Amino acid sequence: MEIKTTTVPSDQLKPKPKDSELAFGNIFTDHMFMLDYHAGQGWHDPRVVPYGPLVLDPATAVLHYAQEIFEGLKCYRRTDGGLQLFRVRDNFRRMNESARRMCIPELDIDLVVEGLKTLLRVERDWVPGTQGTSLYIRPTIIATEAFLGVRPAAQYLYYVILGPVGAYYKEGFNPIKILVEEKYVRAVRGGVGSTKTGGNYAASLYAAEEAHKKGFTQVLWLDAIERKYVEEVGTMNMLFLIDDELVVPPLGGSILPGITRYTVLDLVREWGGYRVSERHIAIDEVMDAARNGRLKEAFGAGTAAVISPVGWIVYKGEEVEVAGGKTGPLAQKLYDEITSIQYGTKPDVHGWIETV
Ligand SMILES: *Cc1c(COP(=O)(O)O)cnc(C)c1O
Repeated sequence: MEIKTTTVPSDQLKPKPKDSELAFGNIFTDHMFMLDYHAGQGWHDPRVVPYGPLVLDPATAVLHYAQEIFEGLKCYRRTDGGLQLFRVRDNFRRMNESARRMCIPELDIDLVVEGLKTLLRVERDWVPGTQGTSLYIRPTIIATEAFLGVRPAAQYLYYVILGPVGAYYKEGFNPIKILVEEKYVRAVRGGVGSTKTGGNYAASLYAAEEAHKKGFTQVLWLDAIERKYVEEVGTMNMLFLIDDELVVPPLGGSILPGITRYTVLDLVREWGGYRVSERHIAIDEVMDAARNGRLKEAFGAGTAAVISPVGWIVYKGEEVEVAGGKTGPLAQKLYDEITSIQYGTKPDVHGWIETV
């Protein structure tokens, strides 16, 4: 399928921010990628077009019944100026899994990877170069058919927008304090917790706001049935190092299968020296291990922060400190290794990198 490109005249391009001024999610580039779906016709008309508003009928299905999925990944600039993507096909494979669950037609992965690279080549000057910065990529699919009624739509729009984002850790790691959520739940087995679909995040807002009011940056979700086992935090999977065992909650349908999570598991298994267990872990076990000094480290893993050390956990009014409120050696080593591969300062022996 040929990808048509319509560019913005060079005198109408947006000014680009300085790397030092970059935050997350508030600046978007000059162009976007689009692809349409109509039942009977399939995905068609791939194109790069100027970034701009979508015009939607007020009856558009996504606005009422939330038939929507998205992805999140980054484009990195190497020190030689070249651009590269990390495990990009894993993101699109996951997007297709989300699509199946939400009755959205699956994408042709080769086509969307090519479409993304075409967009990135048009926007190459938007990829910041300072260590830790990157160009965030947000592929999205929305149901665009205009009708009221609960059934899968017959029309969809796939689009990709891009925005430069700042270094997550400007002055070194910032271990976070998390609140274990006792009242609200994020997802339940059999539901859509393993799907990157907007409704999951809308459903999490209330508990997150309550936690923010109490001074916490993140909530740690427990399983919805017993309120006993650790699931994950906002947009990160959780890992715990207890003695020499790295414990990772298993993917049971309620947890998002994070690509950073897989990457951590792959690397730690390769390095050896730790027992790696994908198993259920009760919050009581975490708290006990912390009290007894056996919880060596706890950290989140996700594309935005890569590794986010947890310094304090609060559950039922009790606060425990992890690793002295500092970043532990395993979290640091993982962060260094993963970012070195992403920015191309270490060779890619796993076949995780695609150049643009
Ligand atoms: C995206 C996301 C993650 C992390 O996935 P990565 O592929 O590592 O970025 C974890 N949990 C939730 C709920 C997410 O939305």
